[in-house]
Amino acid sequence: MSETLDLLIIGAGACGLAGAISAHDAGGTVAIVEGRDRPGGNSSLSTGSIPGAGSKYQHQAGIDDSPRRMVEDLTLIAGHHQADDLTHMIAAECGPLCEWLIEDLGARMELITAYRHIGHSVERLHAPRSRRGQDLVDDLLRFVAQRDIPIAVGNKAKHLLVEDGYVVGAVVEGEPVRARKVLLATNGFAADPALVAEHCPEIAAAEYFGAPGSTGDAVRWGLALGAALGNMGSYQGYAAVAYPQGQLLSWTILEKGGVLVSEAGERFGNEDLGYSGFASHVMAQGSFAWAIYDMRIHGVAQAEEEYAEMSAMGAVKWADTPAALAEVAGLNRIGLEQAILAYNAAAKGDCKDRFGRTAFGMAPLQAPFAAVKVKPGLFHTQGGLLVDNKSSGPKSKWWCC
Ligand SMILES: Cc1cc2nc3c(=O)[nH]c(=O)nc-3n(C[C@H](O)[C@H](O)[C@H](O)COP(=O)(O)OP(=O)(O)OC[C@H]3O[C@@H](n4cnc5c(N)ncnc54)[C@H](O)[C@@H]3O)c2cc1C
Repeated sequence: MSETLDLLIIGAGACGLAGAISAHDAGGTVAIVEGRDRPGGNSSLSTGSIPGAGSKYQHQAGIDDSPRRMVEDLTLIAGHHQADDLTHMIAAECGPLCEWLIEDLGARMELITAYRHIGHSVERLHAPRSRRGQDLVDDLLRFVAQRDIPIAVGNKAKHLLVEDGYVVGAVVEGEPVRARKVLLATNGFAADPALVAEHCPEIAAAEYFGAPGSTGDAVRWGLALGAALGNMGSYQGYAAVAYPQGQLLSWTILEKGGVLVSEAGERFGNEDLGYSGFASHVMAQGSFAWAIYDMRIHGVAQAEEEYAEMSAMGAVKWADTPAALAEVAGLNRIGLEQAILAYNAAAKGDCKDRFGRTAFGMAPLQAPFAAVKVKPGLFHTQGGLLVDNKSSGPKSKWWCC
């Protein structure tokens, strides 16, 4: 790569690959470098679900959505933060982004109408038909290959090239690569325990379940150049990773009426907070928690491939009474009996839930009962270098000015 590129992209996840295609199709010369031996990063591990507020697919499905509604939804669940202007930009761009991926590029994605994400007031997610992020990555890699965009895997960018206060490329495996613009598509810092401990201490003891490439390189480079950071304490956790199987216990289990209890058999919070919001509560009460639910809820979750696999691996313990379930799961019998009794009373409307839960799904729970041992995990961090909101969609020429 001896000539000066229009755009050097560091990181070959969904962000970097989509950025490369967009810049190439707008007429730019582009190259991608990826530090790991294979592209994909966290994007490959995710479900590849992308919100698309106001997309034509929502319109066709009769769903009334808009960027404004998405901003309202996000503000309601997450509150204001240090990059509110980006919330507005992302809400405005995500619908056109989904249309671009599906219609212009031909990604194998669709609007999900059977599931509404936590905090979304309407069905808004667009995802690979398989619900596997790897399919999205494979599609994007195919589009990159069709365009002959060079992609160098196993080539880690070590630091940025800076001249007269401008970033003019990066040093990749000891070689300078010059470019008019550099896209830092390196994801967050969840794979770097020191940065996690510094910025997200409440989740620092959780096991990291994301890709190893999220080491926060861009954060360090930016800091060295005097950049400002924002939302550094934000992260996506997961409250219930099945132990020792290491697979995610579908949150459908909790949404449909399951609860999480401690080794003492007691509930410790409001599961309505969702899989990420509840993760720190699981951390705070001990190393493990147990998801308690019943056969009807199990039946619903069986439709999900990962849950069915996990169940086939023997992760679910069964019993006909709370006392027997406590025995097979190794929990305190009296604690569990009382917890189920109190929870079922709240689900029936006999009293208020002591933790403020209001959505009970199919509860009250009934025999036969199920238990899965879980531990919390960390998926990715969400803070980073503060940027302005001047980009404008996948078809713009943001890279050239
Ligand atoms: C299990 C799991 C489930 C998830 N589910 C969802 C979901 O359904 N929906 C959703 O919106 N989000 C989800 N997320 C989060 C989502 O995966 C990420 O936010 C998203 O994929 C980030 O995309 P990216 O391209 O920015 O980063 P990545 O896909 O992680 O790509 C970044 C790439 O940059 C590379 N890189 C880093 N540093 C360097 C360097 N110095 N030089 C060269 N290369 C470098 C990395 O190796 C990596 O390949 C999930 C995450 C996990 C772990």
